[in-house]
Amino acid sequence: MIKELDVVLTPMEAGVAEKLKSFVARKLKLKSEDINGVRFIKKSIDARRMDVKIQGRVRVFIGEEEKVIYDITPFKEACKDSVIVVGSGPAGLFASLTLLEHGYRPIVLERGKDVHKRRVDTATLSRDGVLDTESNYAFGEGGAGAFSDGKLYTRSVKRGDVNKVLSLFCQHGASQDILSDAHPHIGTDKLPRVIENIRNTIIKYGGEVHFGTKVTSLIRKGDSVVGVRCQDGSEFRGPVILATGHSARDVYRFLHEEGYSLEAKDVAIGVRLEHPQILIDEMQYHSANGRGLYLPAASYRFVTQVRERGVYSFCMCPGGFVVPASTEENALVVNGMSPSNRGGRWANSGMVVQLKREDIPYQDTLGMMRYLEEIERNCFMNGYKAPCQRMGDFIQNKESTSLPKVSYAPGVVSRKIDEVLPEIITSRLRDGFNDFGRMTRGRFITNDAVLMAPETRTSSPVRILRGEDFTQLEGLYPVGEGAGYAGGIVSAALDGIAAANILIGKKEN
Ligand SMILES: Cc1cc2nc3c(=O)[nH]c(=O)nc-3n(C[C@H](O)[C@H](O)[C@H](O)COP(=O)(O)OP(=O)(O)OC[C@H]3O[C@@H](n4cnc5c(N)ncnc54)[C@H](O)[C@@H]3O)c2cc1C
Repeated sequence: MIKELDVVLTPMEAGVAEKLKSFVARKLKLKSEDINGVRFIKKSIDARRMDVKIQGRVRVFIGEEEKVIYDITPFKEACKDSVIVVGSGPAGLFASLTLLEHGYRPIVLERGKDVHKRRVDTATLSRDGVLDTESNYAFGEGGAGAFSDGKLYTRSVKRGDVNKVLSLFCQHGASQDILSDAHPHIGTDKLPRVIENIRNTIIKYGGEVHFGTKVTSLIRKGDSVVGVRCQDGSEFRGPVILATGHSARDVYRFLHEEGYSLEAKDVAIGVRLEHPQILIDEMQYHSANGRGLYLPAASYRFVTQVRERGVYSFCMCPGGFVVPASTEENALVVNGMSPSNRGGRWANSGMVVQLKREDIPYQDTLGMMRYLEEIERNCFMNGYKAPCQRMGDFIQNKESTSLPKVSYAPGVVSRKIDEVLPEIITSRLRDGFNDFGRMTRGRFITNDAVLMAPETRTSSPVRILRGEDFTQLEGLYPVGEGAGYAGGIVSAALDGIAAANILIGKKEN
């Protein structure tokens, strides 16, 4: 028998399997031995009061085997037409899985390397400061989502079936906890295996995955796109799902040169802010002892308005580290990620300010992209060492005479952030921090926290236009974050799924 039950628990009752079982047994007036398993189907932390509670709903397996709590998607042998999927980030991979559900053959073309070789290249960048421009934190199997925090929280529930995306992740090896946690995440240590399993599914059912295959132009026949041409001269024919992400600036350039419809987009840019995790735990769990043994590393989310521009925290990584996310030579970009246990000493998040097209000097289609490139080059002054300033010093506009130890492996150099980012950003960031300080009775602001610059890849600076049916021209489906229609792993996956479903619908009607 299976029963469901709403629960409010102490962190220890939620965190220790035997304690949870005893709690549930008491509630259901059963013996612990009668219960074979207890699984959360909803779980969140209520940290509004000193006495932090875990609340949610559990499924209890009484006298029967514990089962998976998600639906398994069946795939079919690919015996129908081929579809070219450019890019193996979440948008491309989930589009490919959707094609296979209906028996279509995804031909995945990926400029970078497989996820395991990629890990070696990102380590080389962090350790030796040597960038592989085709295999890094943005390019390669799994896309920008592979070495990320793997946060799977999205507000874009109207875009499609979020549960389906989470279930497909579970089917490929992610923990079932992602189905119940209010803010699910997989973790950078677990993601590569999940991505490899997705690749194995694609190949098992007759799809193809080609690494080191960079698409450099689209093949046109009249008003239709009928395939792609790659850097090595090879060509692949079929309708094209273009899922190349927001860092593929060469793709925007060739699309622009070839006359496809693009438009400049607003973005948000700023810094990575890093605190010692213990300070965030103390602030969020109202305890001088931090989070104790059973609570997860605490996170935060801030948003305010400063002179008609949003200032907000972005992609918070509790227990994580800051990484060099550059894709181009002589240009610096920082980002953040965390492992599944979020056990690191630091907490980081992007702290960004909305940047509108009218805020910058370039008004042409690729102008916002060039503006970001300039900032990234401006920050590259000591190789991949990041310009860095203490938070209190930044607020007081003082140079930092010393810097604390940070998680960012290539290292940092003391620099006023005002010298490397535009005033329109830094002045609002300063006022935004003061707002966040007021919201937390000053606890968020500390000179033990540092700012590292620049955080420039929060979203795409260009939109690849498409109609209601996801196409720009017949046979061209621009999708995911790079096309400007998604932001984050789940929304990119949902966009890929939606595009593939439309493509299949057209073929079958
Ligand atoms: C360090 C880091 C941490 C992040 N953390 C999170 C997080 O915790 N949660 C979250 O929701 N989001 C996170 N993000 C953002 C998230 O990864 C992206 O929103 C998401 O990956 C976008 O998916 P996509 O498929 O649209 O594009 P991408 O993931 O960018 O994938 C695009 C793919 O296309 C390939 N490609 C590009 N050009 C070509 C070409 N010409 N030919 C062939 N292949 C090409 C690229 O190599 C890449 O694999 C993070 C990003 C980074 C960099």
